[in-house]
Amino acid sequence: MSEPKVGASPLSLELEEIASKVRVCTLCPLSKSRTVAVPGEGPVDAKLMFVGEAPGAEEDKQGRPFVGAAGKNLNSLLNLIGLNREDIFITNIVKCRPPENRVPTWDERNACSPYLKGQIRIIKPALICTLGNTALETLTGATSISRVHGQTMKKEDMLIFPLYHPAAALHNPKLKSVLESDMQKLNEALKQLQLPSSTPKRSGSPKLDDFMP
Ligand code: SF4
Repeated sequence: MSEPKVGASPLSLELEEIASKVRVCTLCPLSKSRTVAVPGEGPVDAKLMFVGEAPGAEEDKQGRPFVGAAGKNLNSLLNLIGLNREDIFITNIVKCRPPENRVPTWDERNACSPYLKGQIRIIKPALICTLGNTALETLTGATSISRVHGQTMKKEDMLIFPLYHPAAALHNPKLKSVLESDMQKLNEALKQLQLPSSTPKRSGSPKLDDFMP
């Protein structure tokens, strides 16, 4: 995420404050193995938030989310429905790369959750797209993405749209076509919410108290 500009809005400054805390965070053991933390990036008034599992090797080097092969795949998927990376806020459940890209533990997810909660509270996305099983499970408690992908779920006052992780589709043509089909369903969901993908409107503030453990 870029440094706040002179005259940046209070919300942008709040978002940057979270990013600054993430960059020096030592709340869980992942701080010892990371190269740099990856707070997330995107506009403070984004109506769509995408949440993945954790930074990978390239993200860990650059400090930016979804910049590796999976990120390129995500960009193509967004383009399918007329969206660009600049339209969305994108982050992860944990902000530091787990060794060997292992799944983050619940202790790590819980330690990191105040940052994501803060980002959601500030941005107030109308819809959150989870990418992969870990994000889905952490945010909703659902454990099987194969049952719930491509449909809108309500969690408290939040609308969540589960998608497979774009990395999972890199070498699996079947999953790639499922993801492409789910993006069209996402586009339909945005229309039903009167949130056309190119100009989504802001909705009310989500309730977060019971959002994550
Ligand atoms: S993963 Fe989250 S809680 Fe753990 S060190 Fe990184 S920023 Fe802190």
